[in-house]
Amino acid sequence: MNSEGGIGAGITNRPSQQCSAPAAEDGDDYERPCPWIPGKKKKKKKITCLAICLIASPILILLVSRRGSPFPSMSGWASPSRMYASKGSKRDVLMGGLLVPGLDERTCASRYSSAMYRKNTARSPCRHLVKRLREQEALQRRCGPGTAAYWRAAERLGSRRNGTAGADDEGCKYLVLVPYRGLGNRMLAMASAFLYAMLTGRALLVDRGESLADLFCEPFPGTSWLLPPEFPIKNLQDLTGEAPESYRNLVQSDRPATSVSELPYVFVDLDHGCTYHDKLFYCDDERHFLHRAPWLLMRTDGYFPPALFLNPAYQDELDRLFPRKDSVFYLLAHYLLHPTNKVWGLITRFYDSYLRDSDERLGIQVRVFDGDTPFKHILDQITACTSQERLLPEVVEQEPSSFPAPVAAATAARSKAVLMTGLNSWYYDNIRSRYWQSPTATGEVVRVHQPSHEEHQLSGSTTHDMKAMAEMYLLSMTDAIVTSGWSTFGYVGHGLGGLSPWVMFKPENLTTPDPPCRRAVSMEPCLHGPPFYDCRVKRGADTGKLVPHVRHCEDMSWGLKLVHPE
Ligand code: GDP
Repeated sequence: MNSEGGIGAGITNRPSQQCSAPAAEDGDDYERPCPWIPGKKKKKKKITCLAICLIASPILILLVSRRGSPFPSMSGWASPSRMYASKGSKRDVLMGGLLVPGLDERTCASRYSSAMYRKNTARSPCRHLVKRLREQEALQRRCGPGTAAYWRAAERLGSRRNGTAGADDEGCKYLVLVPYRGLGNRMLAMASAFLYAMLTGRALLVDRGESLADLFCEPFPGTSWLLPPEFPIKNLQDLTGEAPESYRNLVQSDRPATSVSELPYVFVDLDHGCTYHDKLFYCDDERHFLHRAPWLLMRTDGYFPPALFLNPAYQDELDRLFPRKDSVFYLLAHYLLHPTNKVWGLITRFYDSYLRDSDERLGIQVRVFDGDTPFKHILDQITACTSQERLLPEVVEQEPSSFPAPVAAATAARSKAVLMTGLNSWYYDNIRSRYWQSPTATGEVVRVHQPSHEEHQLSGSTTHDMKAMAEMYLLSMTDAIVTSGWSTFGYVGHGLGGLSPWVMFKPENLTTPDPPCRRAVSMEPCLHGPPFYDCRVKRGADTGKLVPHVRHCEDMSWGLKLVHPE
């Protein structure tokens, strides 16, 4: 399929341009967005921008402080608006232009606050990404729910009229995402679909399921990304690749371009276990026939950007968007996935109470795929990994014969906070007891915490999902992280944190793997259901060997992940 245009073009292994230095430190090269002043010359625009900011910030601060914040105390942190207004730190809050200023911080406190909770803000967006994000925001506003363009397109879809967009559609095409499975899966799906929407000029709408609206703030200013309840196609969660409208059927038809014009929508099934024909989507360049479909409905449970990076049609644009290939999820997620105030309250209260005051923070994410009961071989794996990689100090089994004299506050021992997450509390109990019952060989103080132990996965239940989301964010606020292989929960934790994790290999035959873990080469999540097909030569291939920035994952030998080639 797709013999014309980009598909046949070769993938060249060009060196990536490096992003400029981190936004917090870089020079004035970075152009701050000032979207409310259209069409002025750069210098004039800068001056006008500055003047408006100078006049507006005291008013903004006054308004916010007078109305009070519904958000729990930040224990000594400056309020986000003050951080934004103060010269030296405004770039941190907006994460180098990733975020647009001016959204109401009271309705979504995390948007402008989360950067303050991170040491690691090393990855800033490049100018081109910032520009494309602003363009996508404009597209979302022009085409989103409530606009005439949306209603016309939805009406055409509801009456199952010919799928081809009409002249009055204002250039609006849509990608409706049906994220599913656990929350980690859904977050990876959202980041992936957003990138695809941006690459193909579609407005992204998300099926809200049971809990999504309670978990995430609206990411786009002045519009909603939530699929309206009146959306004419019902039971989206039940769609599969078997549907007559599926991409799978389309690529097997003789004349896909004609077929697509006769369909009200095209359904793309990217479940991790989807078929060879479903996965040909990863080689599609949209120009041949998919662009004719005003509605693309997509079901996915994973992180598919590594496959997009293998498609020659997107190569140039992806290179420009992400000169560093190992921070794609970090940037997409920090742009898109902001916890609601309720979830942010769970995050900040826990962080401020248990993690903030320690000298170092270690995250340990325990995900067990063999059942909900605790396993000794997994406890052994955690201790072997943290000991071998010197992430936690050894304990001294014997009490010292003479008890050390109390230390003065000024020379207090270093402290390490360990954040453990898991459905079960048994691993946490054991590790905490270890550091309670014996002193450490280094004299370090180790404090172990676990926010919840839900016992069973109950994805879709709002409170349960809120805790899961809070814990993924808390993991991302640590300085080093140990994760369980195969777990999308863990991928989100380290990906959001900009941390290359120590991945614990998935145990086989209920045995502790040897070695127990390994440092990952990048902070990117792993695509579990990759294509095994080379788009350029149109035949089967080992897709972990086609380009230097797409490699097999440490935890899943056939999976694919993005790395930044040295
Ligand atoms: P994966 O199954 O490990 O890839 O991760 P997912 O997040 O997609 O699905 C697992 C789900 O189980 C989570 O979304 C939570 O609902 C629940 N879960 C698993 N581990 C934890 C945990 O450490 N803490 C909490 N609160 N929930 C968890």
